[in-house]
Order: sequence, then structure tokens, then C-alpha cells
Amino acid sequence: MKKIVIAVDGFSSCGKSTFAKSVAVRLGYAFIDTGAMYRGVTLYGIEHGLIKNDKIDVERLVSSLEKIRLEFVFNAQRQASDLYLNGENVESLIRTMEVSRMVSHVSSIGDVRRYLTAQQRTMGQRKGIVMDGRDIGTTVFPDAELKIFMTARPEIRAQRRYAELTAKGENVTIEDIMVNLAERDLQDQTRTESPLKQADDAIVLDNSEMSLEDEMVWFEQQIKRLGL
Ligand code: C5P
Repeated sequence: MKKIVIAVDGFSSCGKSTFAKSVAVRLGYAFIDTGAMYRGVTLYGIEHGLIKNDKIDVERLVSSLEKIRLEFVFNAQRQASDLYLNGENVESLIRTMEVSRMVSHVSSIGDVRRYLTAQQRTMGQRKGIVMDGRDIGTTVFPDAELKIFMTARPEIRAQRRYAELTAKGENVTIEDIMVNLAERDLQDQTRTESPLKQADDAIVLDNSEMSLEDEMVWFEQQIKRLGL
């Protein structure tokens, strides 16, 4: 069967990864969470003192990029891939509020974007991939055969993120999360390099009132339309 590239873009905490992961399982495709890669670079910066008191030493971070090795390794227990940073499993560390607060600033740096975009293109070379992020359908794979732009109401997104973080024992308030999501969306939409925007040929999926099962029913209609 013909393999394609599926680009899933959209706002923070819309359930892009959950949806993209299910789509990948359904089609037997690889799934890449590109947000995890930006988070990995941010974590490296924090751990190496290149990001301190909310300030990024852009020059040193950019010159360290070649030392940042990111890999996805399948975790059978989670039935999903964990991100490894220079050989260490950092899947939990990249999801903290500390990283979330800085990641949109790191992802606005052009050299960081070019470094990660090149790796993402290599991962999708052989097709059969579902990639989620902010610029997959616009910059990374502008020729992707299927582009989906996900959105959901802000309060619903905040509730989902709150449930995810508190389940992991993080001490956060829903207000902190609302502020963080709004800040990241604004930063992601207004940056100069590859801002978050809907590709002209993307199909919108607003999942505010949808379960994952509903989303998969919607997805079946899309693949039928494409003849897959
Ligand atoms: O998807 P997630 O919320 O984990 O992404 C974290 C951050 O990484 C986003 O807020 C955005 O700033 C950045 N990002 C990006 N381009 C991508 C994926 C993520 O700028 N393709």
C-alpha cells in the first residue's frame, strides 16, 4: 500500500500527540513528536546553564547544538517512544512546567529550528510517518499528502494539560497552565521563523467535544477520501 506523510499541526495541548499516535498505530506508521525535540534542546540548555533566570544565552546554545543528540526509543510499557537526550531517557524531564515556560523562546531561534527541521526531514524521507508539531505542514513537509490542523477551546486544553501534569505529581494550578498555553500560542504564532499557522491545504479538526474514538472515526473518513 502506498505510504504517505501525515502532518499534524496545531495549538498547544490540543491532543495532537494522542491523535497522531493512534493514527500511526492504525496505519503501522512511525510517529514523531517534534515538540519533544524542542523540549529536549530546552532541557539541555537548562541543564548546562545556557538558560538561566528565564534568559537564553543564544550564542552558546546555538554553538552547542552539534552536541545535542536526540533519539526516540520505543517503550513497550507505554506503547510509545521516549525521548533520549545524549543517551539519557528524558521523557518525564521534558514535560515539566520549567521546560514548558522556556520552550517557545528556544523554538523561536532560527538556528535551532533549522537544526531540528533537517533531522525531521531525514526521519520522514521514506514516508510512512505521522509527525506532529507546529510547522510540519508548512515548513518541514510542505508536500505532505495529508495535513491536519488541530484545535480545541482554551479551557478544554488547559483541563487536559492539568490532568496530565497532576497525574504525574506536578504541583500546578489550572491558572498557571492557562497562562502558559496562551503565552506559548502567542509566541508560536508571532515568531518570524516558521510561525504556527494553518497550511492552506490543511483540514481542521476541532476536538473540543470529541473523544479519541470520535477522532478516529473522523480519520477513517479522511483516509477513505485519499483512497488509502
Ligand atoms: O507540542 P509541544 O507542546 O510539546 O511543543 C512544545 C513547544 O515546541 C511549542 O510550544 C513550540 O514552541 C515548539 N514547537 C515548534 N515547532 C514544532 C513543534 C514544537 O516550535 N514543530
